Amino acid sequence: MRELTYVARRTVEWREVPDPVVQSDRAAIVAPIAAAPCDVDSSILAGHGPIPPPFPIGHECVARVFDVGDAVSHVAPGDLVVVPWAVSCGACERCSRGLTTHCTSVPHMAMFGAPIGGEWGGLFSDLVAIPWADAMLVPLPAGLDPIAMASASDNWPLAWRLVAPHLEARPDARVLVIARGSIGLYVCDIARALGASDVLYVDPDPEHRAIAETYGARTAEAIEPIHHGFDLAVESTGRVDQLAVALRSLVPEGFCESAGNHFRPGELPLLEMYLTGVTMRIARDNVRAHLPEALELARSGRVDPGRVVSNVFDWEQLPDALPERHLKPVFVRDQDR
Ligand SMILES: [Zn+2]
Ligand SMILES: [Zn+2]
Repeated sequence: MRELTYVARRTVEWREVPDPVVQSDRAAIVAPIAAAPCDVDSSILAGHGPIPPPFPIGHECVARVFDVGDAVSHVAPGDLVVVPWAVSCGACERCSRGLTTHCTSVPHMAMFGAPIGGEWGGLFSDLVAIPWADAMLVPLPAGLDPIAMASASDNWPLAWRLVAPHLEARPDARVLVIARGSIGLYVCDIARALGASDVLYVDPDPEHRAIAETYGARTAEAIEPIHHGFDLAVESTGRVDQLAVALRSLVPEGFCESAGNHFRPGELPLLEMYLTGVTMRIARDNVRAHLPEALELARSGRVDPGRVVSNVFDWEQLPDALPERHLKPVFVRDQDR
């Protein structure tokens, strides 16, 4: 089978590798049918990632189950499933507390699409081995479009986690979103659906701002800090100076959620944060733990993540089209294979 491999700045290529086999009675093999780049993949493709190539890339997809081990009971061949970006066993002490990206059955940072915690392959591959199928795979709810939900492995449920718990506690919160890619747009959609009284979306890209406006957000190219302006600030730029703007725009005792991936160092306004009394969270997302609840919001029809999909390409176009600059391209294959 072929594995799409990141080989150099703005260059990916198919590499032939042996087909994966079901290696235990709890494992499965899946075939991605709709896969998308994570926002951080654009940084990697631009040569800004922390890991030198080559490595198989891709960690967002909806897949069709191809084969399963004898002990797998939650999914069966032919099912459409979401494949979470992180590898987790579902049974260790951390997994049982919902800390699935910190699973102790695998090396720390075990994930698809980057060889940080072992080699698990990428989701832009013809076939992918899933070591714990029942623990990891989440069936795609009936009626949801795999193309619209290709990001359900990572960016979309991350966006849910960045805002949904806060809006549950305070449904009329004012929300600031400083972003560069799909995560911030998903945040606008989910924040409005869950009752945010005001959403300001900040991004220099006019195409992104136009989508945010369809979700009911106000928009700006850039802002200076808005003193005591927002109950919740979400930062998804990978830039520490923009994280500082988000932090400096909070009300007293406000909350800042950062999507992380700041590959370059920078300074945070710690004294101002102390005086305002802010809480900041910067954490890799335990997607598997809250994915069913997030998917329930998508199933309800109250959100429309499909608007963020910028292009639909055929699977065979991956080597040419993935390195191009698109907001959220989705690469699709025959869904009945
Ligand atoms: Zn990601
Ligand atoms: Zn575990």
